[in-house]
Amino acid sequence: MAAVTQALLQHPAAFNTQQQKPRLSGARSNTISVPANKFSAKKSSKKQQRIFAQQLDSHSLQPESRPGDSCACLAATITAPELVEVEKVDYNEMANNLIHASPLEIMDKALSMFGNDIAIAFSGAEDVVLIEYARLTGRPFRVFSLDTGRLNPETYQLFAEVEKHYNIHIEYTFPEAVEVQALVRSKGLFSFYEDGHQECCSIRKVKPLKRALKGLRAWITGQRRDQSPGTRATVPTVQVDPSFEGLEGGVGSLVKWNPLANVTCDVVWKFLRTMDVPVNALHHKGYVSIGCEPCTRPVLPGQHEREGRWWWEDSKAKECGLHKGNIEISGDNKNSVHAANGAGDLFSNENVLRLTREGIERLASLKERKEAWLVVLYAPWCQFCQAMEASYDEVAYNLKAHGIKVAKFRADGEHKSFCQQHLQLGTFPTILLFPKNSSKAIKYPSEKRDVDSLLAFAKTLQ
Ligand code: SF4
Repeated sequence: MAAVTQALLQHPAAFNTQQQKPRLSGARSNTISVPANKFSAKKSSKKQQRIFAQQLDSHSLQPESRPGDSCACLAATITAPELVEVEKVDYNEMANNLIHASPLEIMDKALSMFGNDIAIAFSGAEDVVLIEYARLTGRPFRVFSLDTGRLNPETYQLFAEVEKHYNIHIEYTFPEAVEVQALVRSKGLFSFYEDGHQECCSIRKVKPLKRALKGLRAWITGQRRDQSPGTRATVPTVQVDPSFEGLEGGVGSLVKWNPLANVTCDVVWKFLRTMDVPVNALHHKGYVSIGCEPCTRPVLPGQHEREGRWWWEDSKAKECGLHKGNIEISGDNKNSVHAANGAGDLFSNENVLRLTREGIERLASLKERKEAWLVVLYAPWCQFCQAMEASYDEVAYNLKAHGIKVAKFRADGEHKSFCQQHLQLGTFPTILLFPKNSSKAIKYPSEKRDVDSLLAFAKTLQ
């Protein structure tokens, strides 16, 4: 028994020999293999490993300890005692117990429980803070990242700086070349602007993530409750992953740790500045939440950070699939799209006519119109539609005197695909002019939606 315990304490990946004293509950002298890495682990008695790991206690933190390694290559194979069945961990209860815990405490708990079977998901943004917390625990840790092939140069530079700063190797995961090739060849490089980001994210992010997680029993994310009012408001500090499977397969085989759940963006940034760690250069250019280059843009002061991601889509559902368990669909009407943040309808001015589906179909099918129509295809949750409401109302008032009808058609939800196929809908808002004496609609080509620009468009083309 003493020899076995000694052997366990010498395992460099799973246990910090300076800090942890495993408590063995009813251990007998039979042996099991402790995984040398994620590939060999599957052959071991994983249930026993889990039980053993869960019995480890986290003690004092040692900020002065050596920086952690991303230790994918550890190759020790040692023996451990067979362990008797112990109580299953109740992660809901643990999350409640950790509700006021600091990120450092949560990180230490996570690393102490899962050793080499847990890894930090690093996106190349401010979640470098996770790596700093892991370092401060003094425990070994692993870091993995998804290289979608569409990241900003600044993000790749940060990866290199982080590897150097922490003396670690990030475990990169890549999409399947065949799938990327098929998508790009059939739909082009920017299909996500036309038909949503899900397909591309699925190929470039979600599937590679699934592969990476199948080699782990737990992962650590940088999710915070304040990141997205729609999707992350209830993120717990720890949970059984609601979406993905871990090493052992099946529901409940993966645990997700969110050490930053309790803290705000402001606190994270103060900590990053204090600790003087590498950060993505894009943060100095107004970017807050950073993802792939074509799908991320800077936000203005006062704008929510997620507004810089997939800005052409419903702000309430901005998850790329990595944290899709955060998205709840209301049970009573799963197919409809609701206005986010309680937003009401737009363009309710008396000068703006509201078209029904039948009405816009008829307008689009007329060979010759007696008068020109200006129509906005909109969604009330869209921030860009909201932003142009005042100018569109003014345009409607002005064009009334010129005999041009001004109308609106709500084009999200069940009407979206019709509008995409027949009315040139790309992103919201799409503005169309149906000239008189013509069968074709002309799409407003600019993102400038001020009164003068819209009036010039309508008056010159009517
Ligand atoms: S964020 Fe954009 S480019 Fe990146 S995987 Fe998703 S849709 Fe594709």
